[in-house]
Parts: sequence; C-alpha cells; structure tokens
Amino acid sequence: MAQSLDPATREALVARVRFYRELGLTEFYRRPVDPALLAEEPAAAESAELPNSTSSQEDSTISFRKPTPAPPQAAPADRASALQLIRDEIGDCTRCALHTGRNKIVFGDGSPTARLMFVGEGPGADEDAQGLPFVGKAGQLLNNMIAAMGLKREEVYIANVVKCRPPGNRTPEPDEANTCSPFLFRQIDVVRPQVLVALGATAATYLLGQRQPLAGLRGRVHAFRGMQLIVTYHPAYLLRDPRQKKEAWADLQIAMRELGLKLSGKG
Ligand code: URA
Repeated sequence: MAQSLDPATREALVARVRFYRELGLTEFYRRPVDPALLAEEPAAAESAELPNSTSSQEDSTISFRKPTPAPPQAAPADRASALQLIRDEIGDCTRCALHTGRNKIVFGDGSPTARLMFVGEGPGADEDAQGLPFVGKAGQLLNNMIAAMGLKREEVYIANVVKCRPPGNRTPEPDEANTCSPFLFRQIDVVRPQVLVALGATAATYLLGQRQPLAGLRGRVHAFRGMQLIVTYHPAYLLRDPRQKKEAWADLQIAMRELGLKLSGKG
C-alpha cells in the first residue's frame, strides 16, 4: 500500500541508500510494514552539522601506556553506576590544557553493556556544544555505519581518546591523550565490549600503545585486554575521501563476523 514520506524522511532514506551503494551494497529488500507501526514512528530528520576535521596524521613524540590485563567483568546492573563513578571522578576537569577551550566534557554515550564499542579521537565543535560524542557530520556517517551493521546507535558504546575538544580539531598532543586516556581505559574495562573499533590513527595508537601506519593495522583482529580490537578509518577521513568507504566496510565486516552478526549484501 502506497505511503508517502515526508521530505526529511525521504531525504534521510536517499542518503542512507546512497551510503549503502558506496559500500558496494546494491540489492535491497522491502519488508511489509504494519501501517499501524508507521503511524507511530516519528520522522528521522537528519541534521546538517559541521564536520569535525579530525586528521589521521600520526605524532612521532607519543609516549605510550603499557597495555595491562583487563579486570574481571562487572555485573551488568553495576556498569551504568561504574561509568557514572568515572564521570564523577573526571569532574570539572583541569588536568590538561584542553580544558581552557572546552564548553562541555564529552564523556561517552551508549549502552553500558554494549558488545561493540567505537573509540574516536576527540570531540569536534558539535560534540563540544552538546556534550555527546559523534553528533556532527562524522557522527552521521558513523550512525550510518552502525546501521549498516544491523545495529542501533543505542546498542553500542562510543567514546574518545580525549574528552575535551582540541582547538581547531587538531590531533591531541601526547600529554593530553596520556592524561585523558586512563579514563577511556576504565570505561572500556567497565563496558568490556567483545569488539572495540578504533576509528583512525589516534585511537589505534593510544589503544594499542604503539604507533604504526593505519595500513598495517587495518584488516585484522588485534588482541586487546581480553577483547578484540579492529582498526579502521576515522569517519571524518572517510568524508574527505569517500573512496575508502569500501575499505572501512570491509573492516566493519570483520567486526560483524566476530560478533556473529549477519553479513548482508556483498563481501
Ligand atoms: N571525531 C571524533 O574523533 N570524536 C567525536 O566525538 C567526533 C568527531
């Protein structure tokens, strides 16, 4: 039965289909939808937000934390409060220079019991304004990537190496990343996802504790504190070079395979 879409939903749908095509997914199937459900569904408007110009450059002066084994898993009911304790400890942080330019600390977002966690570099302008990770243009692309995996954003957990926006979206300095990343490691240890995806070179560097070109880290599973770590391109980089989206999709398919998610389409 014909159902007309409002312009915002239609535009969002067109963008989503275009994204899937860029990944190489060309066959789509329509499931019959109960009209009663459609009536209740609010329109998913896609906002036009500014990109975070995170770079995938690497810093040669990085000093690394030694990877340590993860502690035992906390009971699911305790994880939300354990995360809140970490947030409380961060407080109105002045531990590094990034605090001087920030509006909001961007702690993390998503399910405390997520099986999949994404780690980015640091907040951009939109994230700094809203206090949430990946809500700008790169975030829209990340949302599409999550949806392409057959997941909802609320089902995953998302955090960054640094919790305050670096000026002009520059790469965090080693002292900033090393000051902030222990909080990220504690978040990871609370959520204990089965699979972690490092988005870009900065996340990969500080998670793995070694600086290596992204090309040498992508396309395989790294052991990380009893979890599986997959490295892929940062969505901001993919916005600048959409030709790499297929490569990123191949990385995400590795994550899907590890999670036992159904691989759809080609690949
Ligand atoms: N880029 C990041 O690395 N993190 C965000 O939260 C947003 C953009």
